[in-house]
This record gives sequence, C-alpha cells and structure tokens, in this order.
Amino acid sequence: MDQRSSVKPDPRRGLPSVDKLSRETRQREPELPEWAVTESARRCVAEARSRLQLNPPGGSSDESLEDSLGAWVERTASGARRLLAQHPVRVINATGVVLHTNLGRAPLAEGAARAAFEASVGYSNLEFELDSGRRGNRMGAVADKLRLLSGAEAAHACNNTAAALMLALNTLARGREVIVSRGELVEIGGSFRVPDIIERAGVRLVEVGTTNRTHPHDYEQAIGPDTALLLKVHRSNFEQTGFVTEVNLPQLVRIGREHGVPVVEDLGSGTLLDLTSAGLPLECYVPSRVSQGVDVVCFSGDKLMGGPQSGISVGRREPVEAMRRNPLARALRLDKMTLAALDWTASAYLDGRAEQEIPILRQLLEPVDSLERRARSLARRLSKCVTSGAATPSDWSVEVQQDRSAVGGGSLPGFLLDTWIVALRGKQSAARTAARLRSFGQQRGDPDSAVSVVARVRDDTVLLDLRTLADAELADVEAAVAFSVR
Ligand SMILES: *Cc1c(COP(=O)(O)O)cnc(C)c1O
Repeated sequence: MDQRSSVKPDPRRGLPSVDKLSRETRQREPELPEWAVTESARRCVAEARSRLQLNPPGGSSDESLEDSLGAWVERTASGARRLLAQHPVRVINATGVVLHTNLGRAPLAEGAARAAFEASVGYSNLEFELDSGRRGNRMGAVADKLRLLSGAEAAHACNNTAAALMLALNTLARGREVIVSRGELVEIGGSFRVPDIIERAGVRLVEVGTTNRTHPHDYEQAIGPDTALLLKVHRSNFEQTGFVTEVNLPQLVRIGREHGVPVVEDLGSGTLLDLTSAGLPLECYVPSRVSQGVDVVCFSGDKLMGGPQSGISVGRREPVEAMRRNPLARALRLDKMTLAALDWTASAYLDGRAEQEIPILRQLLEPVDSLERRARSLARRLSKCVTSGAATPSDWSVEVQQDRSAVGGGSLPGFLLDTWIVALRGKQSAARTAARLRSFGQQRGDPDSAVSVVARVRDDTVLLDLRTLADAELADVEAAVAFSVR
C-alpha cells in the first residue's frame, strides 16, 4: 500500500519560486532594479510560507495559494517600490507643532545645512590646525561658543541628550549612587527611560519621594557615603497639577553643596535665548540654569535651540572636562556634518542672527497678526484650487480660524501657542483628505514637484496651521490640496 497517497501534497510547493517571481516582475516592470525586486520577491514568498505554516491548508485563510501570478507580481512590485523609496525625505509640516519628533524635530537653518554640506562634500580641517599644520581639536571651536552662550565654564557636545546624560552619569557616578525623585523617573519619546539610562551607565539608582511629592529632606536622608550625584530631570512631556511638590534646582544645588555632592540636570529642551517675552518659561533658558550653580546641564541641540541633533552639556570645568576625557565620549561623539551645523547655529546666536535665521525661533516668535494675514492668503489660494477642476464649489469649504497649538518635541507640556489655521472640509472624509495629502509626495513621477503634507484632523476637518508653514512652502501645499480634493 502506498502510504504517500493518504498524505496531502505539501502546499508550500504551490508557491512560486523567488526566481520565477523576480523574473516575471522584472518583465512587467522593467524600470524596477533587480536588487529591489529580488529582495521583495524573497519577502513575499517567505511571508506566504510562514502564513501557510500558521494556517495549514484546509483552514480558511490559504488564499495565497490561489493567488494568480498577477497578484504575486503586483505585491512584489509594490514591495520593491517601498524598498527603493529614499528615506527620510522632506515633508511639509502643517500640524503647527514646531518640534514634531516624528517629523525630525527642529528643521535646520539653511546656513547650518550649508555648513554641513561644505564640511562634508570635500575634506575639512576637522582635526587639523591650518596655522601650524599640526593635529587640531575637533570640539574646541564649538565648545568655546557654547560656553560663551551659556555662561558656563566649559561645554561639550555629543550625539544627543540621552548620550549626554549617559556620559555625565558614567563619568561622575560610575559604580556609585545617583539620587532621583520618583516624580522625575520619566519616559521621554519612544525609548528613553531615565531609570534604564542610569542602569546602563553603570550607576545605582536611589529613588526618593513619591510620584507627586518630593521634599528636600527626602534627598538629605538618602545621601550617604556612596552618593555620587543628585540628578534633576525635566518632566518634558507631561505636567503634574494638584497635590504636587518638587525640589527646585536652587534647592537641590544648596543640598548638594551642603553635602559635597554634585548636581546634574537633564533639561531636555533648552534655549539659548531668553524667550519669556514670547511666553516661554524661564526654566528652559540654559544660562538661567547655569547661573543657579548646577554642576552640569544637558540639553538637546535639535529642540528649542533649533540646531542639529546633538546633546550639549555645559557646566563647571572639572566635571565637563572629565566627561570629555571619558573613553565613552569617543563612542558618542559628533560627526563632522553635525559639528559644522552646530557650530554655525551657535555662531548665529552669538552674532544676534538667531531670531531671523533659525526656523524654530522664527516660528515660535511669529506674531499672531502675521499668522492671520498668511492664513487668509493661503485660504484664498486654496478656495480657488478646490473650486476649479472636478470639484464643484459647494463641495468644499475653506475657512480661516484662530486656534492653539503645542510646541511639541517633549518640551513645554501644557504650553499652547495662539495660532491661525486654514480649515478644509469637504465631500470626502477629512481622514481621506489627510491621507491623500500625506501620500502626495509618494506619487510616481517627478519627486521634486510633489511634497507630502502632514496636517491635523479634528471634527472631520483638515487643519493647516500657518505657524509651521513657511511662505516658500505654500505653493507646494496648494499643489497637494489640489491633488487631494479630487
Ligand atoms: C528630549 C529629552 C531627552 C532626550 O533627548 P535626545 O536629544 O532625543 O536624546 C532627554 N531628557 C529630556 C528631559 C528631554 O526632554
């Protein structure tokens, strides 16, 4: 008796081979490069194979077997196109959220981007002294500028604030204890958790106080012979209200002094301009933190400072120099492009050009009447474009409205800026219009002529916020809207 006759054929044999699928796809879409098609075909077949393993045939969902070759080719081609797409690419931020972490935080000033380009497209004097012809110091120039801007004795810059904090902890407290309030053991962004960073820096965490209340005596009682550091962490992305007490920086500095223990602050979003006149709290102004006697303050280059991604540490000479000498600093160091952009940004502050040239500051400081005027002008342009062509005038409404928007980027929680928006409502759902706006830049064809637009949606209305829209982007917004409303 033939045993095999009672065994079902292996359904995986019914899957097309990667070779065949690649060949078919390349034949039908010859402009797709071989590497992308082969990889996409491999993924399509592997996915079908594992689906079959999870749902053996006889079950309900073995449709992949029945798929025509045409469907396989289509899946392979679209997978190949996803692999080919340049990432990241420019998008237009119409959300009004000035520091949108998912949209790359601070846009660079053109001068900063040019400096990065110039420093990297050829050779540079990164670690070379042109005067003497000898080896130079890659960090010296930018550290001088950051020192002058912050009023601190010394400055150092590394990859980002998570790295700066890691470096500070590892340099100043390795193998010893750091005391942190339970109200400040926060998670910021997707993967930055203060307790995890502390542990990975090789430091023992001593938690004091409770979630909502920490008092000076909590720190004082926890200080012992093994205490290396008192750490203050800015609650960047949430607010506590109600029955809340925290120990502020001057109090913490006083406690540290009395016990001979240094104090480090993770400020996150720091500014190098006093923006209290624009309504921003004084506590994010870095020089005001430095002047309170903190030993080291860490803040991000690409949040309110408006520069490239980087983590800046400023403070007393001894701890900052020790951080610079830590072997870990080499692993966390800035590359030449970032260094050039950061140096340019620091110079813009020193020269008094920051408010004109740094996009983040221009956006934060734009007066409400200017936003209103620009909103009205955009609304007029959009009214014309939604009423021409296929759509009929009554299908769409375009209105200007006053609104409020968040600064974002894990900075200034609860702080909202007055702004003006253009509200677009129409015959298709706002979710669909917003999806079309987002997909505009992914249209096949000339990639330079189509830029995706990211907008807010509220009450089935698409909101375009002028605070984050530069005049130079409005033609692109118009093109994206014209595409999305039909
Ligand atoms: C944003 C933020 C960080 C993380 O900064 P990166 O530059 O993204 O590493 C750390 N701490 C605080 C308080 C922050 O606000």
